[in-house]
Amino acid sequence: MSFFLIPERKFQKVQDISPELLTKMGVRLLILDVDNTIAPYKTLTLESSVTDWAERVRAAGVELTIVSNNKGRRPEIFAGLLGVPYIKRAGKPSPRGVREALRLAGVEPRDAALAGDQIYTDTIAANLAGVRMLLVEPIKFTNPFLAIRYFLELPFRHERRRKSFSAKELDQ
Ligand SMILES: [Mg+2]
Repeated sequence: MSFFLIPERKFQKVQDISPELLTKMGVRLLILDVDNTIAPYKTLTLESSVTDWAERVRAAGVELTIVSNNKGRRPEIFAGLLGVPYIKRAGKPSPRGVREALRLAGVEPRDAALAGDQIYTDTIAANLAGVRMLLVEPIKFTNPFLAIRYFLELPFRHERRRKSFSAKELDQ
C-alpha cells in the first residue's frame, strides 16, 4: 500500500486532536484544512468548539496556519476568525501550499503536522512535504460526489503508519 496515501493518525474530528498530544509529538505548527475539517462546505462561521480548540492549541505553543484548496474567501474569513495566517488555492495534493506554510512559520517538516479530512489531497500533500498527517472524518457530506470519494478512500483510511510511532503514542 502506498506510503503517500496513509495517514499517521486518525481522529473523529479536529477538536479531538489535543494540545497535549501535539506537544508530545513535538508539533510546533499545525496546518489546517478548511472544508469538512474545521467547517462544513459553504458555511461562513466556525463552531465555538472549533474556535475554543484552536485557542487551546495555540496556548500550548502550537502555531496554526490554514492551507486550503478553496479559491473563494472562506480561507481568509476563517483565518480572520482564528487570527492565523492562511494560504488558499494550495493545489493539494501538491505539497506546494504546505511548504509555503512551513516557510512562513519557519518550521521544519518534522516539527509540523497537517489536519485534514481527505486522503487524495491532504494526506498526499502532507506525506510529500514530509509533514505528519492527522486524518479526521469529514464533517458532512453535502453531495453524492463527496460520499463516493470517501468510499474510494476507505482502504487507506483503515491503514495507518506505525513505523514513526513510539509505544507511548500508540497507547493513546
Ligand atoms: Mg477538506
